[in-house]
Amino acid sequence: MIRDDKTFNLLLDSVARFTQERLIPHEAVVAETDAIPPVLIDEMRELGLFGLTIPETYGGLGLTMEEEVRMMFVLCQASPAFRSLIGTNNGIGSQALILAGDEVQKRRYLPKLAAGELIASFALTEPDSGSDAASLRTTAVRDGDCYVLNGAKRYITNAPEAGLFTVLARTDPKVKGSEGISAFIVEAGTPGLSLGQPDRKMGQRGAHTCDVMFDDCRVPADNLIGGREGEGFKTAMKVLDKGRLHIAAVCVGAAERLLAEALRYALERRQFGQPIAEFQLVQAMLADSQTEIYAARCMILEAARQRDRGESVSTEASCCKLFAAEMCGRVADRAVQIHGGAGYMAASAVERFYRDVRLFRIYEGTSQIQQLIIARNMIREARRMSS
Ligand SMILES: Cc1cc2nc3c(=O)[nH]c(=O)nc-3n(C[C@H](O)[C@H](O)[C@H](O)COP(=O)(O)OP(=O)(O)OC[C@H]3O[C@@H](n4cnc5c(N)ncnc54)[C@H](O)[C@@H]3O)c2cc1C
Repeated sequence: MIRDDKTFNLLLDSVARFTQERLIPHEAVVAETDAIPPVLIDEMRELGLFGLTIPETYGGLGLTMEEEVRMMFVLCQASPAFRSLIGTNNGIGSQALILAGDEVQKRRYLPKLAAGELIASFALTEPDSGSDAASLRTTAVRDGDCYVLNGAKRYITNAPEAGLFTVLARTDPKVKGSEGISAFIVEAGTPGLSLGQPDRKMGQRGAHTCDVMFDDCRVPADNLIGGREGEGFKTAMKVLDKGRLHIAAVCVGAAERLLAEALRYALERRQFGQPIAEFQLVQAMLADSQTEIYAARCMILEAARQRDRGESVSTEASCCKLFAAEMCGRVADRAVQIHGGAGYMAASAVERFYRDVRLFRIYEGTSQIQQLIIARNMIREARRMSS
């Protein structure tokens, strides 16, 4: 749903201009230094990029799902590291608060997240619990008016920068599965919370992850999201449902950029006396990429509109994440192929993007986990219909 075409198009245009004129020219320096220049972060704040999805009541732009995915199609033409910095405040780092937080919690934190004064992280994954997230072992034991957290979280996006963590921890150790899990807001600097060294990753330099450790970390009981124990896992899954549509849209943006680079190169590069774009085998790679991007774009827009109408999109969000992430990997591979040797060289954007986009098939649920969710929902529905 687009709330107001004119206002939204103005916003989209300014983000498109910012992406082309400010972000893309800084990609190489971000990759080299593993840092986004502070001046660009300030400009991202001014544009409101940290609060795109945070409701207007709390200082954000309150984008609908359709508006959010269309914004990602545009913004993610630039290196994924830029999106990653604003991604957690708009997605996994704020959504648990938005979906399940009480009014006091929302008023305390959301305006700062929307303004980009605070960076939020979402801490679910642990060293021994990744795809099997419900088996997480971090504990939160009630002690007076606090919970005492112990455990370790792994690969947490933006943790080195974060001022705030949404942490999933087990409040009822007797319950082994998801029912015993609760979600907490933990402020950076809380005694007992410490960070590991930033991870050295395959790609997305400029976007950072690290371990987050809790050692008798005392968190006020008021920071239990929604004030009820045992709701955390359900909330986390809702957060990820929305996140999957967001990441799918990010994949489309990145794939469109890769294809634009490949087309440009195919028109410039000459072999056998003509531009390589004239060769039908190169054209097939261009055409297959264009077709798959179009398919992903259509399915994401359809699922986003469905979600905006209040319909459940668990299956559709997983279909979008699965298809778009795999599609983006194929497009990246073809873009490198079209560039030939130049595509293997570190100076080319496609070499960098090839490594950057590999992540999309892994986080916020691997492709295999999306397949499991889709099939499980299909089987559940078939059984319901036949009973
Ligand atoms: C750069 C980066 C950023 C991240 N950011 C965050 C973050 O901000 N917050 C957070 O909480 N987590 C984050 N993660 C963690 C990410 O979500 C997990 O890495 C991901 O869910 C996979 O978990 P795993 O790495 O433990 O792999 P595993 O679960 O060990 O999976 C290994 C392989 O086994 C397959 N597999 C596992 N179970 C099954 C099954 N039942 N059937 C078929 N195949 C299966 C997987 O698909 C995969 O191919 C991040 C990860 C990375 C790399």
